[in-house]
Amino acid sequence: MDCAFCNAAALKEERFYEDENFIAIYNIRPVVKGHCLVITKRHVESMLEFNENERKDFIPFSNRAIFIALKYANANDFDFLLQKGENAGQSIKHLHFHILPRKRNDNLAVSKKEFFQSFAEKENTMKTLTQSEMAKTVKELKEIAEKHKLQINEL
Ligand SMILES: [Zn+2]
Repeated sequence: MDCAFCNAAALKEERFYEDENFIAIYNIRPVVKGHCLVITKRHVESMLEFNENERKDFIPFSNRAIFIALKYANANDFDFLLQKGENAGQSIKHLHFHILPRKRNDNLAVSKKEFFQSFAEKENTMKTLTQSEMAKTVKELKEIAEKHKLQINEL
């Protein structure tokens, strides 16, 4: 299947955290600092297709990925966003929740009405990270995961 998120080799450089069912990757064109994605290992379009294991694991895994992203971005606030289907703005048809650490007057700070428009524009126009920028970022995310391992396992 020609799916960017089913291609494990392509995700190797972006991956910083995973378990049996899910992978957390750093976005190649981060809209804000700490812009990560939670994706399923299986090809599904949304959580409506989750099996029992994925349903049980989803919140704990997402909490851990969010914790790491917030530490990395030094933020307390975040958006956790799923776009399912073309009319909702889904690009890659493989479940991916965006984790967007948020700060006052950040790159996405607009009125609520304009949020999705701003997000879509920025997703297409942000600079793509170089291989070394991605490697540095993923290394820092992995260090945060390791440093806070005990706390993360409680989430
Ligand atoms: Zn896929």
